[in-house]
Amino acid sequence: MSENKVILTVACTGAWPQKSDTPWIPLTPREQADDIVRCWEAGASIAHIHVRDDNHQASMNVDPFAETVRRVRDRCDIVINLTTSGGLGLDDEIRMKPFQQLRPEMASFDAGTMNWAHSTVFENSPRFLEKLATSMRACQVKPEFEIFDAGMIYNVLYYMKKGLIQGPPHFQYVLGAPGGMTAKVRNLMFLLETCKHHLGDNFTWSALGIGRGHLPIMFAALALDGHVRVGMEDNIFYRKGELAQSNTWFVNRVKRAAAEMDKAVATPEETRAMLGLTRQSPVSA
Ligand code: ZN
Repeated sequence: MSENKVILTVACTGAWPQKSDTPWIPLTPREQADDIVRCWEAGASIAHIHVRDDNHQASMNVDPFAETVRRVRDRCDIVINLTTSGGLGLDDEIRMKPFQQLRPEMASFDAGTMNWAHSTVFENSPRFLEKLATSMRACQVKPEFEIFDAGMIYNVLYYMKKGLIQGPPHFQYVLGAPGGMTAKVRNLMFLLETCKHHLGDNFTWSALGIGRGHLPIMFAALALDGHVRVGMEDNIFYRKGELAQSNTWFVNRVKRAAAEMDKAVATPEETRAMLGLTRQSPVSA
């Protein structure tokens, strides 16, 4: 039955797009919450959240996360997944604070260091990953292992073996980031086969293609009984030359594609059951 349920993550904002790239991107907590609620109404299962500072730059300040999460939680039951990587070069502790205080059901876990966009380093040091795994476990926040290339899978396997990660891992294959694996279906197949080889059926997975690789990866993930992520964090164009005017456009497209394949998008409650998530309340600082 569960292969007929598709967990649909919407990543509405991300760290990079600006209003000058697309006027439709939600940036403030209020804009983001409104957008996330609309996506939930359209059927999205999970909201992956980044926030921006007053100058619209990526930030890991707790306040805008807290406001966004509060506004979303007041209005809907979508599963909340907070980033741990908004803004490059930040201290380990700053990157962990939002999930430690706000206790989302999930948070992203970038499973290795990589060159980023041929310009800088996206640092996820062994020291940080050990702290992150330990803290997420203590906080009962499920990691979403973002896999930008195959070596990152082996980092996750290593931490599982060490006992820092427990329970079936959930992977998000991120394809098409400059510096990572390209958004080709053969790369998705390779990552999936690698996980199956080591873990059998004891994992769950989702995939996304950045930019022009968005559609091939989305359709391939559906065909392979995986889950999908869409949204302006990854892709601001609905089709070539046409900006999406709302993240709901992407959500609705997944819903239609899934229906054509006799699948349905998972509700937040179904998602919680499928991923073994724990609902919690924020803790005071
Ligand atoms: Zn993200």
